[in-house]
Amino acid sequence: MDIIKAHAKKNLCYIAAQKMTPKGIVVHSTGANNPYLKRYVDAPDKVGKNTGNNHWNVAKPNGNMVCVHAFIGYDRDGRVRVAEILPLDICCWGVGSGKKGSYNFDPAYIQFEICEDDLSNRDYYKKAFSVAAEYCAELCRKYGISTKNIVGHCEAYRKGYGSNHADPEHWMKKFHEDMDDFRSAVKKQLKNTAKPDSKGGTAKKENTFLKGDLVSVTGNAVYYGSSETIPQWVKAQKWYIKEVSGENRIIIDANEKGTASICSPIHKKYLKLIKSAKEKKQDKASGKTNKKFAPYTVKITADQTYIFKEPDQKSQKVGKISDKGVYTIVKEKTDSARSKWGQLKSGVGWIRLCNVKKLR
Ligand SMILES: [Zn+2]
Repeated sequence: MDIIKAHAKKNLCYIAAQKMTPKGIVVHSTGANNPYLKRYVDAPDKVGKNTGNNHWNVAKPNGNMVCVHAFIGYDRDGRVRVAEILPLDICCWGVGSGKKGSYNFDPAYIQFEICEDDLSNRDYYKKAFSVAAEYCAELCRKYGISTKNIVGHCEAYRKGYGSNHADPEHWMKKFHEDMDDFRSAVKKQLKNTAKPDSKGGTAKKENTFLKGDLVSVTGNAVYYGSSETIPQWVKAQKWYIKEVSGENRIIIDANEKGTASICSPIHKKYLKLIKSAKEKKQDKASGKTNKKFAPYTVKITADQTYIFKEPDQKSQKVGKISDKGVYTIVKEKTDSARSKWGQLKSGVGWIRLCNVKKLR
């Protein structure tokens, strides 16, 4: 999804920056006939210029302490798009509060406004809500949010976590839809975008585990072929599969940190895949997991070696080595082009390790 990022850094809510872990999503609609993102979003190059000077990149939009995470509406080119104005890990000031509390704060919800038009244009309605559903599906996947926790502002009020507003269902009603229809649309999106496995084509069969997969134990799990329940401390950790024996019997052994081994048989229906062995290998190759690393020294063999700010040739050059001297490398990284980089002990930056000789 091509999401516009235009953080409203002047908004007091952005400045307050209260951290959150998204638990759900609140859908709003603006209640004003203006379907253009530029009305709310300060990003003239992407959404067009706001000539009324009333966008939300100000301390208090229209004098109110309000801010949502995103808006959906027309961009500069007349495409219906999402524009995020807050990072999704800080609380927004959206839904107000109800008798039980507020989704603005713990349990905090991601909240966005769909820009309303005059509520009579079916095409715009369809487009705007379909972009919203796609956006929600993406958020559900990214943050593990259940579609049950997608609510309209009106529902948030009924549940006791928002102020008494009718959006967005007052708009949906005109086209004979409600939030249940919207949640179904999100579910459909989630189904359509189920990831194919890396061989391409067919989606991975559910509950197929391999040796080396990292899993967690779910539900009222018992040991395989026994009625003895699996203790909470086991369920609280992640475990590597040691062996797949038979169709359903799986032996989990080492925990993620490698500090315990339990060698326990368990029915695969109680296991949830956290990371496949294949993914883990890929992580290793791309340098994501840093194994225990011991600094070492290198002798520079090239006449000139540039020092970069980051392990990336596109980053800023911060220096040059032309003495063919000996330097200490304290960290390694592999960039996207598979080039290996080493960080200099001095902290000045990084050098590529192709023109050096490792000493010890
Ligand atoms: Zn609302």
